[in-house]
Amino acid sequence: DLPTIYAITPTYARWTQKADLTRLAQTLLHVPNFRWIVVEDSDTKTPLVTRFLKFSGLQYTHLNAKTDTNFKLKSTDPNWLLPRGVSQRNEGLRWIRENLPANTGGVLYFLDDDNTYTLQIFEEMRSTKVASAWPVGLSGGLKFEGPGKCENGKVLEWYTAWKPERPFPIDMAGFAVHLKLLFQHPEAQYSNSVPRGYLESHFLTGLKLQRQDMEAKANECSEVLVWHTRTEKPKMKHEEALIKQGKSSNS
Ligand code: UDP
Ligand code: MN
Repeated sequence: DLPTIYAITPTYARWTQKADLTRLAQTLLHVPNFRWIVVEDSDTKTPLVTRFLKFSGLQYTHLNAKTDTNFKLKSTDPNWLLPRGVSQRNEGLRWIRENLPANTGGVLYFLDDDNTYTLQIFEEMRSTKVASAWPVGLSGGLKFEGPGKCENGKVLEWYTAWKPERPFPIDMAGFAVHLKLLFQHPEAQYSNSVPRGYLESHFLTGLKLQRQDMEAKANECSEVLVWHTRTEKPKMKHEEALIKQGKSSNS
């Protein structure tokens, strides 16, 4: 039997949300044994995402958890100012711990809604025994960031330039862990109160992992199979003018 991949996706309302979710869902439709845990950054489940998931054809769990206002980015803030997706990933972790048996064979992945994923990366992570890592393209101000030199399934060198002293110099899209770790370390989760760039490291060290524990994937970490892409924010000045005049609804 193929181990199931449980992927947690934080998502929030914005003009490009449905476009991003569509691109992602149509990739995921090609991934067997997959459960998509979608966690909205909102007080309630929105009609847009509810409808979207219903017609997606995917196996999914729909949750919501609003980011505390102290930690919420304003639309005018630069993206790096605050961590993003923390409460949502934690809500997904809570759901897994409360709803799956502790001996569930499966793999956990954090799947942001705007990145670009190959089908191969899912098959790479599926065989994770404890924790695995691979390079993420267009990340860390480099052509890729993460494991840079690997042999016999072990990482020998990390390719990173920004804060290389981080316990795990790796992007959210660059690792997966076996579900058993979540049950062995029930307190491990994300935190809003970590220095910039330390979200992944905080979570992975909470699982009592060290760099040398990572199983190298993606052909001895020689291939980029996922990219940290971003969707350009559209300029909506005309639509916004119509909204002000009451001629368009803000959704
Ligand atoms: N996100 C969220 N609430 C926010 C901002 C972001 O739930 O206020 C989600 C977003 O949909 C994505 C993840 O958190 O799945 C990472 O955010 P983003 O892609 O904006 O960050 P970046 O990849 O640019 O660091
Ligand atoms: Mn992103």
